[in-house]
Amino acid sequence: MSPRILVVEDEKPIAEIVKFNLEREGFSVELAFNGRDALDMAIRQLPDLVILDVMLPKLDGFQVLTELRRTTGNPILMLTAKEGESDKVRGLELGADDYITKPFSPRELVARVKAHLRRAQLLVVPGEKDVSSLLCDRLVIDLVKYEVRKGGQPIELTVREFELLKYLALNRGRVFDREHLLKEVWGYNYFGDGRTVDVTIRRLREKIEDDPSANNAKYVLTRRGVGYYFRELDVV
Ligand code: CA
Repeated sequence: MSPRILVVEDEKPIAEIVKFNLEREGFSVELAFNGRDALDMAIRQLPDLVILDVMLPKLDGFQVLTELRRTTGNPILMLTAKEGESDKVRGLELGADDYITKPFSPRELVARVKAHLRRAQLLVVPGEKDVSSLLCDRLVIDLVKYEVRKGGQPIELTVREFELLKYLALNRGRVFDREHLLKEVWGYNYFGDGRTVDVTIRRLREKIEDDPSANNAKYVLTRRGVGYYFRELDVV
């Protein structure tokens, strides 16, 4: 089945050009001309990728983006105006995977769509063991490239922080005490103590969490008196 793409753009000539170019590449394309319809269609059709204009009637692109991100981890590409530098940042912060500046070349748009779909297909549903990427909400842990991205933005982690995150995420939902994590992530011969784990968890949270305090962390959670665990994933 060809990937399904929802294009949300109120300027019909642009929407039609995008549709034409994507269909020519074999994609199945639906158009929405305002934010309200976009949400309705996204919920009904579960598109594999969404191309989303910022300036839209009814709901704007940011409102649509925020709503979509509650239910899908699929790629969302924003269309932004050339002068809209702050729009790009805002879109990425709200969970867009990429943005394309108007005016754009259809060829570039198609190339970006393909790249994002390729990457998205690597993402796996929970429970699978042979994984190359883990997706949780806006956080992507790329086990092949050793990269972590949040809302499309790369996050710089140390190797140890990455290994700790990877270990917890691969075993999501399971609580590990600090001794276990020291052994598994740092190795048998490491002469640290439990505080090493606590400090690394804190640094990791400061980098990946919206609110890094132990009570408000969303990804790496504390089980008081026991240890740490990665949040159970919503089904992607
Ligand atoms: Ca528009």
